[in-house]
Amino acid sequence: MAVVRKKKRSAARAVKKATSQARRGRAAKGRPTRKVAKKVAAKGGRATRYVYFFGAGSADGRADMKNTLGGKGANLAEMAGLGLPVPPGFTISTDVCAYYYDHGRQYPPALRADVAKHLAKIEAAVGKRFGDRTNPLLVSVRSGARASMPGMMDTVLNLGLTPDTVQGLISASGNARFAWDSYRRFVQMYGDVVLGLKPEGKEQDPFEELLEKKKHARGVENDTDLSADDLRELADEFKALIRQRLGIEFPNDPHEQLWGAIGAVFGSWNNARAITYRKMYGIPDDWGTAVNVQAMVFGNLGDDCATGVAFTRDPATGAHIFYGDFLRNAQGEDVVAGIRTPQQLTRHASQEWATAQGVPEAERAARYPSLEESMPQCFAQLERTAKRLEKHYRDMQDLEFTIERGRLWMLQTRNGKRTAAAAVKIAVDMVSERLIDRDTAIQRVEPASIDQLLHPGIDPNAPKERLARGVPASPGAAAGEVVFSADEAADAVAAGRTVILVRVETSPEDIHGMNVAAGILTARGGQASHAAVVARQMGKCCVAGASELDIRYDPGVILVGSHSVKRGDWITLDGSTGEVFLGRVPMVASHGQSAEFRTLMGWTDRVRRLKIRCNADKPEEAELGRAFGAEGIGLCRTEHMFFEPERIGAVREMILARDLAGRERALAKLLPIQRGDFLGIFRAMDGLPVNIRLLDPPLHEFLPHGDEEIAELAKTIGVSATELVARRDALFEINPMLGMRGCRLGIVYPEIYLMQVRAIMEAASQLVREGVKVIPEIMIPLVAHVHELEILRAQADALCKEILAAAEVKVPYTIGTMIEVPRAALTADEIAQSAAFFSFGTNDLTQMAMGLSRDDAAKFLPQYVDRGVLPADPFATLDQVGVGELMRIAVAKGRRSHPGLKIGICGEHGGDPASIVFCHEIGLDYVSCSPYRVPIARLAAAQAALAR
Ligand code: ADP
Ligand code: MG
Ligand code: MG
Repeated sequence: MAVVRKKKRSAARAVKKATSQARRGRAAKGRPTRKVAKKVAAKGGRATRYVYFFGAGSADGRADMKNTLGGKGANLAEMAGLGLPVPPGFTISTDVCAYYYDHGRQYPPALRADVAKHLAKIEAAVGKRFGDRTNPLLVSVRSGARASMPGMMDTVLNLGLTPDTVQGLISASGNARFAWDSYRRFVQMYGDVVLGLKPEGKEQDPFEELLEKKKHARGVENDTDLSADDLRELADEFKALIRQRLGIEFPNDPHEQLWGAIGAVFGSWNNARAITYRKMYGIPDDWGTAVNVQAMVFGNLGDDCATGVAFTRDPATGAHIFYGDFLRNAQGEDVVAGIRTPQQLTRHASQEWATAQGVPEAERAARYPSLEESMPQCFAQLERTAKRLEKHYRDMQDLEFTIERGRLWMLQTRNGKRTAAAAVKIAVDMVSERLIDRDTAIQRVEPASIDQLLHPGIDPNAPKERLARGVPASPGAAAGEVVFSADEAADAVAAGRTVILVRVETSPEDIHGMNVAAGILTARGGQASHAAVVARQMGKCCVAGASELDIRYDPGVILVGSHSVKRGDWITLDGSTGEVFLGRVPMVASHGQSAEFRTLMGWTDRVRRLKIRCNADKPEEAELGRAFGAEGIGLCRTEHMFFEPERIGAVREMILARDLAGRERALAKLLPIQRGDFLGIFRAMDGLPVNIRLLDPPLHEFLPHGDEEIAELAKTIGVSATELVARRDALFEINPMLGMRGCRLGIVYPEIYLMQVRAIMEAASQLVREGVKVIPEIMIPLVAHVHELEILRAQADALCKEILAAAEVKVPYTIGTMIEVPRAALTADEIAQSAAFFSFGTNDLTQMAMGLSRDDAAKFLPQYVDRGVLPADPFATLDQVGVGELMRIAVAKGRRSHPGLKIGICGEHGGDPASIVFCHEIGLDYVSCSPYRVPIARLAAAQAALAR
């Protein structure tokens, strides 16, 4: 009784301690904390099971116990339970990892006895004793977290070897070379991992250096050519190195080695690599790792031994072929480490490899035979096992195996990582193989990843030197000559060259250069910067906000560290990673839209509730979006059309006109051009709704700058240059995003909006007569007060009626508004009474709700995200708690006063998978995004519907 009470008290203490640590912010440094500690405590300490056995045809754990056993441990248990040949071992649970960090790197008191008990179980299963001088048991000590973090944490092999036990290994195996090879490997791994000699970064491993020296001294190329004596000497040299570097003796007690390795594996949860990896993939710091202690099997006992890795399908393409590498007479990571050329598993792959390498068939068969040819029985067993595991897990498996003296052992299985193309193909193939159903297939593909399928990418195997890194603003890759202005870009492209437009930041005036450049690079701005938004819409690769770049327009050079890149030099952008490389890196073509891709997309359409539209300003963009499956245009920005060089003159004339008459003269020039724009877009979207936003950006953006421009414009308008400059300066704004823009333009200069409405309706009437089905939605931007909408709507509606009456046609037009000012969201009930639809403009809504200017936020936003002040860039992924709350309010109030009100979103968030899920949940009717994101949105919307 007393014992129990004491345990309870110490458990309570554990919670208290963990909680206060978490409060002091130590949790943020990556220690597993409160949640787990509480779990341990809740079970009263003793009741928590710390150690789970697997092997010899049974297991304490199962595949669905990944939280406790880690992925590796859970799958080893599952394989053992299936009766597959798994060397016996045990898993120390992730709860111990939590305890370890909460108790100043101490273990639960009961752990030692548990480990001893389970070690004895391994001994019994394999008939060897740990530390024995005649037939020693050796073990591996392997890390393994809940989510796989390949290569991030540490593993030690051949543990238990000492000067005594190595003699036992020699006599038991009858193979001195093997025993000394295992010993020197062990000293090396233990030295690296447990004693901390492994260098971070590019520096060479000191043990590898000694190994290289030895091979050189013996005049051999491969480590397999070193003799037993060479390897024994090496082990001694390794130990001397440890003595010299650390001033300690290498431990000769197997139990001390074991606990040293267990501590190192738990410690590796918080090594720099692992922390970075978790941050990149959003893996919580408090999950912790498990430790697997497992009897060694040996792939390095001779030529009837091997070690290797296999995939049940090709992870690059998804092709249904058994695929993998192995090495004879080798151990552990030798295959991955590239110390010898690995051989292929199948004969077919081996021959393909030889052809690609120019190795003649005779030489291939003699020197690099496949496993299928050299160990046919093991191969057949491995292939059978792989099939069985794939069927069991119903997913592509990534396997690790070792063959010891002709006997196959399975060391790991997990769901294999794959490219997006492979993910799509595997998911669709598995449906036709009846391994999974369609809903599962839809859930198997990461929406963001299918970007890769729609744009060309950088050849992953090409050598490259990185110059800088920015925000991966628009995916795909591009190489070209550096140019520093839009005009330069236009000239160079006209001369047949390929260019990357490099700007500190872009503005609407750069559109013509952006349009012709292969890619866009900026030093300032993020996901929602002008460059990013425009590039995505154009489907053009863009790296934005690469702040290391010091861009000097004059004389035309980019300085980064010791590099200087001049005008005309080649650079390559990877818009999917945000990397910028020197020179021209080779590309690989996109896999295009495979049959499987189209099949999967078809399935998503049957599942999702949200409609998907695209943002398109030009007929080509509209067609592209439609080809990707868009069901309408969610945002057509009329002003993008205004910036084209042949129109900007008329636009400026309109803005700077002295009076109404002057403005109307300029508008008359614009009317036919706008009508032409709409004709093209309506035709491309025959039968589908097209949402057109009336003029939105601040007039400020259209103002002329150069003396020449001003002189010319003054002539056209008929005023002096001085007067024109004065008018221009009067229009200058300090804070244009909160200035003369959106519906304010329509209120102050009604003729501008009326010209646009006329262009829309005249184009529509003409097409209706041609038999095209046109469904225009006229959208009024930046409404903050219902009066704004009432006035503008009444004007527009009257004009529409007048035009349709004169043309004697019917067009099912509607007039609605954007919800992008917080006040509009809060008064949505009033606004909804005058609106046929709402469309959330979440870029502006985010700016105004958070008081963040998206063009200036690059100064602090990256830091905010890095330090966790904000969970993510709110311009890339919707701030659901804050901005999202405004949306919820607007949806509820809007639909209350206007039942059935159509509501969509047209901000950049419409293409972000997490934001799409949110839009589904709050009941929007559609999302709209750039054409290339339409497939992503279809998939994300389907997953959102299935998540219910
Ligand atoms: P990682 O998580 O980095 O893949 P592992 O724990 O899987 O690390 O170990 C790496 C390699 O070490 C395995 O692929 C396997 O080849 C080898 N290995 C691990 N445990 C054993 C064992 N018990 N017997 C033989 N080889 C092992
Ligand atoms: Mg592994
Ligand atoms: Mg807006």
